[in-house]
Amino acid sequence: MIKLEHLNKTFGNHQALTDINTEFKEHQTTVIVGPSGSGKSTLLRSLNLLERPENGLYHFNDETIDFTKPLTSKTILTIRRKTGMVFQGYNLFPHLSVLKNVMEGPVQVLKQDAAAAQKTALDLLDKVGLQDKADAYPGQLSGGQQQRVAIARSLAMNPEYILLDEPTSALDPELEAGVLRVLLALAQEQDSMIIVTHNMEFARAVADKILFVEDGKILFDGTPAEFFKQPTQRIADFLAAMT
Ligand code: ATP
Ligand code: MG
Repeated sequence: MIKLEHLNKTFGNHQALTDINTEFKEHQTTVIVGPSGSGKSTLLRSLNLLERPENGLYHFNDETIDFTKPLTSKTILTIRRKTGMVFQGYNLFPHLSVLKNVMEGPVQVLKQDAAAAQKTALDLLDKVGLQDKADAYPGQLSGGQQQRVAIARSLAMNPEYILLDEPTSALDPELEAGVLRVLLALAQEQDSMIIVTHNMEFARAVADKILFVEDGKILFDGTPAEFFKQPTQRIADFLAAMT
């Protein structure tokens, strides 16, 4: 379980996150939505400690980070292991095959033996619909296929939470569908995911919980059923502008 209390983050004199309080439960998919520049990426990146809020508490299971205190490299490493950020597909190693890309982290970082890592990698490639591309190189794949390899690579590290920031924003609609299908399947298997997206149809389908962020504040924290009932005029206006 991840729990945030009174998180604040500024960039210069811009307050990007203001008094963020929320929870991300295990085996649930949380979707973060909101206008451009509202702080969605900053919130997600704070969970992976790519951004450092100035104050507030970050609880991860039994561990608590107080952002007013210095972070140790051990804490950063632990949190990064537990929260797998899926970066866009262009983060893949171009000189390694798809299979080796997925095996790299488990072998180099987790010190798994190659045979076990390969078996897991092939299972994960199967899961993202790419087992037949195991021997291909990233440059030979479409953007959507590369993004699915990036998801498999993140899963191979066995994080407790998977973080995705607009996982399909760089993709054409027909390639987007394949990636969204994979994420829906993961959500159905009850992986713990936190996803930033502008795709409201996908948000409605995948989310157990929706966070609506505006001007660095959480204006809604609840179920998709409630959210899509447009409980406030602001949410109604936002949803109208998104469709
Ligand atoms: P989008 O939907 O466009 O991706 P977002 O909701 O993800 O937007 P953030 O990237 O979190 O928004 O940015 C929130 C605010 O913080 C914006 O006003 C942005 O300009 C500012 N900001 C983000 N990162 C930095 C940075 N490294 N330095 C200065 N300002 C930043
Ligand atoms: Mg963003």
